[in-house]
Amino acid sequence: MERYECDECGACCKTWRILVAEEDAAREPRIRAESKKLPENQSDVLWSFQLFPLPFHESCCFLKGDNRCDIYETRPRVCREFAAGSERCQEARRLGGLPVLLSR
Ligand code: SF4
Ligand code: SF4
Repeated sequence: MERYECDECGACCKTWRILVAEEDAAREPRIRAESKKLPENQSDVLWSFQLFPLPFHESCCFLKGDNRCDIYETRPRVCREFAAGSERCQEARRLGGLPVLLSR
């Protein structure tokens, strides 16, 4: 099986719509404070907050200038599970004008 190592390009944090759960906000209070709470008719147990897109933000509101995550230790589950080298990773890189992430 091919193995990939994330090169911290940040493309995944500024390409796809990022929705996270109430449990993520419970673990990291900044999610509730700084992202958008979805209206009742658009939210469910899994998706309660939108981190991207948001007005006036070109990336997730927690992506820092050096492409590091400002809440890395308590980041949402979807971020923990996002796999470097996956189809979504490679597509985000392609859309961002970055080269394909090569396996190691
Ligand atoms: S797009 Fe892929 S390589 Fe870039 S930060 Fe996200 S997971 Fe890492
Ligand atoms: S919370 Fe962190 S890892 Fe998740 S999309 Fe935002 S900047 Fe990226």
